[in-house]
Amino acid sequence: MPQLATKKDCTGCSACKQVCPKHCISMCEDAVGVVLPSIDTSLCIECKACERACPALNAPEFKSPRSSFAAWATDKEIRRISASGGIASAIYKYVADNDGFSIGAVTDDEFRVKIKSFTLQDQDAIRNSKYTFSDAQEIYHMLRPAVKAGDLVVLIGLPCQTAGYRKYLGDHDNVIYIDLICHGVTPNSYLRQHIKSLETQLNIDAHRLSFRAPEKGTANYYFTLYGKDRDILYSKRSADGEKYNLAFHRSYSYRENCYHCHYARRERCSDITIGDYHGLGEMAPCDFSDENVSVILVNTSKGEAFVKRLADSGLIEIHCRPTDEPIKGDLQLQRPSPKTCERIDFEKYIEKYGGDFETAIDKVLLLKARRERITFFRQLPRRIIRKILKMLKLR
Ligand SMILES: Cc1cc2nc3c(=O)[nH]c(=O)nc-3n(C[C@H](O)[C@H](O)[C@H](O)COP(=O)(O)OP(=O)(O)OC[C@H]3O[C@@H](n4cnc5c(N)ncnc54)[C@H](O)[C@@H]3O)c2cc1C
Repeated sequence: MPQLATKKDCTGCSACKQVCPKHCISMCEDAVGVVLPSIDTSLCIECKACERACPALNAPEFKSPRSSFAAWATDKEIRRISASGGIASAIYKYVADNDGFSIGAVTDDEFRVKIKSFTLQDQDAIRNSKYTFSDAQEIYHMLRPAVKAGDLVVLIGLPCQTAGYRKYLGDHDNVIYIDLICHGVTPNSYLRQHIKSLETQLNIDAHRLSFRAPEKGTANYYFTLYGKDRDILYSKRSADGEKYNLAFHRSYSYRENCYHCHYARRERCSDITIGDYHGLGEMAPCDFSDENVSVILVNTSKGEAFVKRLADSGLIEIHCRPTDEPIKGDLQLQRPSPKTCERIDFEKYIEKYGGDFETAIDKVLLLKARRERITFFRQLPRRIIRKILKMLKLR
């Protein structure tokens, strides 16, 4: 029987399912909501095509970035409403203007996130970050025909997804692989449970969601639910106690593989990498605002030519930066998200309560608060002594 990647390494990219000649692999949620492949052993002919297609079992080629840019979309409105500099939207516009093919993440009516073909969706739906697992299963069958047609094909996705597409398609002159810097994804069932729980508590009917609401400034990471008429029904951030945000931004609730991520490193397996620009100005002065600025890492000569074409088209503005600056600024370009004690608590509770996100996160936050109280009282005598000594010194 084929030995697919285990939960520690499987990213749920579904490349294994796509290559199975017997269609005997399905992607299913396990007991805690993590999407993993499952093989119907009665149909499997043991050809092992699935093992060969798996980027977790067969490491892709990684390349160190050759240059870094601070960049943003020249369209001010796109820049304002995008997660960072609106580079993804500018790329979509470039691809559309050149009759190309592209893909992106879209949230459906049930708050599942799926990878869709850009040409079938409007810009609004595909823009901005969705901080949850996105399901790429439906896009694969469109990839080979798009590549064969010979037009420009630009595949934007999380690094693990990009690795899956690349393993499936191989390298072609007309295909540009673009990955996002990523610190992990939360199983989508947690997001759906959280929204349902908010709807019940607040007696609201959510129609849309943003993880970085433009109304509040996308850099402030407001988790926002909208009604039918795009009216804001709920909008909170981690500092206000927003539980999904806390679990996501503090790395408590990711898929297990995210803590062992093969792609959270300097070397990339894409032509270009985009993300928020962290650490801007730390290695060289810059004479522009750091608000809504994206980073572009150029990893291949094909990527370099593509960025030049984008800049020449006038859709983006780019500023060359020291290559190491954004890498030093973002831990996700150095190592995977660490397993904190809250993550370990989360793992325990999510198992214990059968994938019930709301109960698990409540327990984790309660335990964290208790731990912090204990630490506070333990450190109190030392703090008092320090304060007294300081006062005595001042005299
Ligand atoms: C789960 C996740 C974690 C991230 N972690 C970091 C990080 O640690 N550091 C950092 O610098 N940047 C991170 N980013 C990237 C960041 O949020 C922005 O997407 C990036 O700066 C590009 O912004 P933009 O303004 O150019 O485009 P945006 O308008 O944000 O466009 C985003 C692009 O990302 C795609 N996308 C959005 N959500 C998903 C998803 N769930 N799965 C696949 N594709 C998706 C969209 O289709 C679009 O192509 C993360 C993104 C995601 C989705």
